[in-house]
Amino acid sequence: MSETTAKELREQLMMKPRKGAGDISADDRSAAYAFCEDYKRFLDFCRTEREAVTYVRTLAQEHGFTPYDPSKQYSPGDRVFIVNREKAIGLAVIGKRGTDDGVRLSIAHIDSPRIDLKPNPLYEDNHLALFKTHYYGGIKKYQWTAIPLSLHGRVVRLDGTAVDIRIGDDEADECFLITDLLPHLDREQATKTMSKAFTGEDLNILVGSLPYDDSDEKDLVALNVMKLLSDRYGISESDFLSAELNFCPAGKTRDIGFDRSMLGGYGHDDRSCAYPSVKAILDTTLPEYTCITYLTDKEETGSDGNTGMQSDFLRYFIYDLAKNDGNEGYHVLSKSKCLSADVNAAFDPTFSSAYEPKNASFLNEGVVISKYTGHGGKYDTSDASAEFMGEIRSMLEKNNVKWQIGELGKVDIGGGGTIAKYVANMNVDVVDLGVPVLCMHAPFEVISKTDIYMAYKAFYGLFN
Ligand code: MN
Ligand code: MN
Repeated sequence: MSETTAKELREQLMMKPRKGAGDISADDRSAAYAFCEDYKRFLDFCRTEREAVTYVRTLAQEHGFTPYDPSKQYSPGDRVFIVNREKAIGLAVIGKRGTDDGVRLSIAHIDSPRIDLKPNPLYEDNHLALFKTHYYGGIKKYQWTAIPLSLHGRVVRLDGTAVDIRIGDDEADECFLITDLLPHLDREQATKTMSKAFTGEDLNILVGSLPYDDSDEKDLVALNVMKLLSDRYGISESDFLSAELNFCPAGKTRDIGFDRSMLGGYGHDDRSCAYPSVKAILDTTLPEYTCITYLTDKEETGSDGNTGMQSDFLRYFIYDLAKNDGNEGYHVLSKSKCLSADVNAAFDPTFSSAYEPKNASFLNEGVVISKYTGHGGKYDTSDASAEFMGEIRSMLEKNNVKWQIGELGKVDIGGGGTIAKYVANMNVDVVDLGVPVLCMHAPFEVISKTDIYMAYKAFYGLFN
């Protein structure tokens, strides 16, 4: 007979069974629900990276952050921010050790999948005015048809002046949509595979149906649309050539479920990580290490371009901070640690065959750590070391953060990536940590209210 019973041994040695939201304390739950009311305001305002930068810059200024000036000398407790081309923003709090032992980073992305306008968008067909579009990021196209869309972005006129456009989120505003075929006539469409049934060229947006007048001129409906845009924004058709206009799902963030335990909204990927990262740095006053929350653009299209994570913008900022302390930038990077704050796919019982349940993440099980992402045989990813995983694990436990581990899905079924690999390439220790999301990349995504709060606790724990 062994002295230890199987039950005792199991408790000592084996992982505890999952309990969903069952083991979340009443304190954490009420803090989480309050946190989510602020998050709703953030998500409702921030449909695009530009709008997120505007919102976060205001928050930062309200919390004592000032624009970073590389010619100034900074000391512990100082709070600064940097903005890259209105599409990425970094908030830093100088630590007691400055950059001597590296910085602590939390990096999320503030772009989300959506429908962009082509440079020449406007046309008329059978007395309807439409816009040609080019989708941005990974979307299942059929999800974006026949739902209300709002328009966001900036147009730069020939004289260099700019106008910002934001229409369709207020219920009093007009909105737009991509039309779809009625089921009565879709026999041909219904036989096609999903990728052929909806092509990029089918994602045309209905923007008007009234002619300018009853003359014999052609395309009078398109002309009338342009007249309305000219009256309201002072733009003409050629100004679309120097514009960034994005159609996003219209409508507000909503509580989900009879128990209101979840949040449905557009852009939880990755604003459900961006917001807690921002809150964590706002609440940080005098950290040991210099802490940076950085919100990047272009993650959904591969992090390319000067506002994406492959740009040197953040590296240059860290080099400047290093210089401030008499350090070499690359030495600082080599000692730095980062949470790549990005979402992972929550297990969906309806599509369980796509997941491997022993290594999937679940709603209400807390923030999910993805040791690696990528596809196939761990291609195109950073695989966090055992040592760094150990460090993050103990940080989370110390800060009472509910967390779980998660792979994206079954090994050979697909894949995806985050900005982690670009951070790792700077010789920084990094791992993905974020909120599990249902219906990721759909116009209406779902998260749990306590998971996003656990993300806040995790980022705060990293900084403090
Ligand atoms: Mn993401
Ligand atoms: Mn994504």
